[in-house]
Amino acid sequence: MAVAAYPYTEKTDEQKAITDMVHQFADEQILPNAEHYDHDDAFPEPIVEQMKELGLFGVTIPEEYGGMGLDLTTYAMIVEELSRGWISISGIVNTHFIGSYLLMKFGTEEQRQKYLPRMATGEIRAAFVLVKTDPEAEPRHRGFTCFIAEKEPGVSENKGAFAGLNVPPKIKKLGYKGVESTELVFDGYRCPAENVLGGEQAGLNKGFAQMMDALEVGRVNVAARGVGIAQRALELGLAYAQQRKAFGKSISEHQAIQFKLADMATQVDAARLLTLRAARLKDAGERSDLEAGMAKLFASEAGRFCVEECLRIHGGYGYSKEYEVERLYRDAPLLLIGEGTSEIQRMVIGRKLLQRHKI
Ligand SMILES: Cc1cc2nc3c(=O)[nH]c(=O)nc-3n(C[C@H](O)[C@H](O)[C@H](O)COP(=O)(O)OP(=O)(O)OC[C@H]3O[C@@H](n4cnc5c(N)ncnc54)[C@H](O)[C@@H]3O)c2cc1C
Repeated sequence: MAVAAYPYTEKTDEQKAITDMVHQFADEQILPNAEHYDHDDAFPEPIVEQMKELGLFGVTIPEEYGGMGLDLTTYAMIVEELSRGWISISGIVNTHFIGSYLLMKFGTEEQRQKYLPRMATGEIRAAFVLVKTDPEAEPRHRGFTCFIAEKEPGVSENKGAFAGLNVPPKIKKLGYKGVESTELVFDGYRCPAENVLGGEQAGLNKGFAQMMDALEVGRVNVAARGVGIAQRALELGLAYAQQRKAFGKSISEHQAIQFKLADMATQVDAARLLTLRAARLKDAGERSDLEAGMAKLFASEAGRFCVEECLRIHGGYGYSKEYEVERLYRDAPLLLIGEGTSEIQRMVIGRKLLQRHKI
């Protein structure tokens, strides 16, 4: 009965084993330490080292390149668990995942061999860059190229083969702390032809389409992060509502609080269902652009909604840095922006709807 009622949330034995493991990792290693790294805005190196040991940087990379070769659905389940711990941790895997997807889908065999095995272990981690290479191109999206650029570890100004790629100081942010967000400045950088994604002939000025493809899976990824943060807000709201007593009774006895919890739980479930539907369609090789846009829009808004409701349930304490929800409240808005804002998702959804239902 339960299986038939929850076709999207049902897990295989392998999915259950890996998500249970990541759930435990979040409970034991991420949640107890997130506050420290968030408040100090410090990179969580020890947590990242453990993620390497667990193989979490190679989840979707094929086994022949040293990864686990798991599908997008399992990846989304893992990301939900990491994000439930702290969205900065899932963010470290996020850009890496998109970088490896681009290489797997569009890279030459030589490029895959060169980078994917070291990416699977987490030895090197990826971000993604798209540059305008033909300013005169019409329509304008035909003038972009993806290329592979390496950098020296830990330096802001590269020399030698990587000269011309500079990394300015990190941007100070509202939330999503601990992980560095920064620009990459290419000034006088020379990209060897073999570093054009897919090779010069196949890849030059094809970057926009490649990136749009990658963003489709990226949207499922951000949706899963929305589910994770919304789930955590629900857990914190449920616990606090039962612990806090005001005027002699638990605040969970107030219908107003129960309604908040009911709305939060409904949003979490709906967001999870949309996310897994989009992931499963993609894994099945079916069209999922519309579904990925819906999942990203709904789940990121659910994250923001649940976190705010959780903050309200906490009353004045929710505004204090002593409580976890304060961090969640600063973290959640990022998901409304990254991989396309809610406004852009609505544009994507609207256009795809009209394409699919053209009369
Ligand atoms: C912490 C952080 C990390 C990031 N990491 C990465 C990364 O790793 N890689 C990467 O490539 N990018 C990254 N980004 C960039 C992010 O993807 C963009 O900020 C986001 O896509 C929005 O683009 P924008 O900032 O240019 O906003 P704008 O395009 O200037 O939008 C501003 C406002 O106008 C609205 N708007 C814009 N165009 C339209 C339109 N056509 N119709 C209706 N409304 C519109 C937007 O919805 C928004 O409300 C990151 C951003 C942040 C904050």
